[in-house]
Amino acid sequence: NLADDPNPATLLRLQHMFEVTGDKLSQISKHMMAEMKKGLASDDQTMKMIPTHVVRRPKGNETGSYLALDLGGTNFRVCEISLDGHGGTRSRQSKHTVTDDLKSGTGEALFDFFAECVKNFLKNDGQHEYTDKEIESRSYKLGFTFSFAVNQVSINEGYLMLWNKGFSASDCIGKNVVVLLQDAFKRKRLNISVTALVNDTTGTLVSHAYTAPDTYVGVILGTGTNAAYVEKIENVVKFKSHGNAKDMIINTEWGAFDDEMVVIPRTKYDHKVDRGTAHYKTWTFEKLISGMYLGEIVRYVLADLVKTGEIFAAGGSKTLGVQYAFETAYMSRIERDHSLDLSDVRTVLEDLMHIPSTTLADRRLVRAICEMIGKRAARLSAAGIAAIVTKMNKLDGCTVGIDGSLFELYPHFSNRMRDALHEILGFSADNIVLEQARDGSGQGAALIAALADTLT
Ligand code: ADP
Repeated sequence: NLADDPNPATLLRLQHMFEVTGDKLSQISKHMMAEMKKGLASDDQTMKMIPTHVVRRPKGNETGSYLALDLGGTNFRVCEISLDGHGGTRSRQSKHTVTDDLKSGTGEALFDFFAECVKNFLKNDGQHEYTDKEIESRSYKLGFTFSFAVNQVSINEGYLMLWNKGFSASDCIGKNVVVLLQDAFKRKRLNISVTALVNDTTGTLVSHAYTAPDTYVGVILGTGTNAAYVEKIENVVKFKSHGNAKDMIINTEWGAFDDEMVVIPRTKYDHKVDRGTAHYKTWTFEKLISGMYLGEIVRYVLADLVKTGEIFAAGGSKTLGVQYAFETAYMSRIERDHSLDLSDVRTVLEDLMHIPSTTLADRRLVRAICEMIGKRAARLSAAGIAAIVTKMNKLDGCTVGIDGSLFELYPHFSNRMRDALHEILGFSADNIVLEQARDGSGQGAALIAALADTLT
């Protein structure tokens, strides 16, 4: 029944807007390689290319027990990880929510909260309850995953440049966050030494390398997106090398790639999303790709189609006008719906987005729009991976560890990345393994603490 199909003119117009051809992807990839080189040469470039001071990847034979703290955004986790020396680990963890009050209070209160969580974690390991005295008499080593922009000057020294993701705690900017944490431990009489400060991409790379030694790239596809990889120190022109290490993991901060907006085609909807954020015209690559923004792009497209009368004849809804009301997880649900009448798409639109009524043609159109935007995100992230792998000269083979809900849960995401990699790299793409990495940041921080241990 033709009446059940979306208007072909609407579909074509949108498809044309969101399509990124194979040729364009190659161009994007080349441009990223050039930007990476600039970032390695000097500070204040679009891609920050931050030296992480992690100069070794694990061999898989590391042993010992380490603590890890992971502050990513809303959640804060404490983990204890025992490395068994055979690429395996045992761990337990506790998860806490950082309240808005803590995020915007004093830095001391925020770090005291972290220390308190650690103390409670140590006091009860699920089998025994320990006294304060027992806890205080033991010593621990800890890796701190802190996924904010820090100026990292050594493996355990990094100065907070600016807060984002809703944080504004006082007296932290310009401070060494390792010292802030260490001081909080001292106030609680905990004998914990913070031996490594880690970004989540680096944690992902290192943790995946523990079980898959051929891992040279770590990628995050979650709330935000970023990547880290192994670079030859001689190529890090801006870094005054000390010691005789040959390689170092570089945190690319690729979320800011193409902030000049010279290579990636953007739609008017992308500009609307950008204008709605606190950091206009920055982190623009991330805004085309990551979980925080994809649903928001869909929402702007739908709102526009309601205005032009191309969708939902009975009108839109208030919810459709609310910023970030259309979650990226809805897109996953919509793309996973293969029922004849798209009943789950109906649930999302009518029950969650409160659209008064939808036709099958509407629902097919919404599904197609999610596909276009989800596909574009996967293809652009693949262009980034192609740039990194080519820059590293690893086209003959390496593994990319990828963490984040978007990669893990969005249907077809990895297949779409793989297709795009083929379009950019040809047969060499067969040598690049894209693998799900789990809990990279916790385990990675513990591993880096272990590696730092063997260096000193
Ligand atoms: P973080 O990156 O903050 O550490 P996650 O990796 O869990 O955490 O990513 C959270 C992001 O993933 C959110 O922006 C959310 O929109 C998105 N997300 C959550 N569930 C899904 C899903 N089922 N499909 C696609 N994206 C999802």
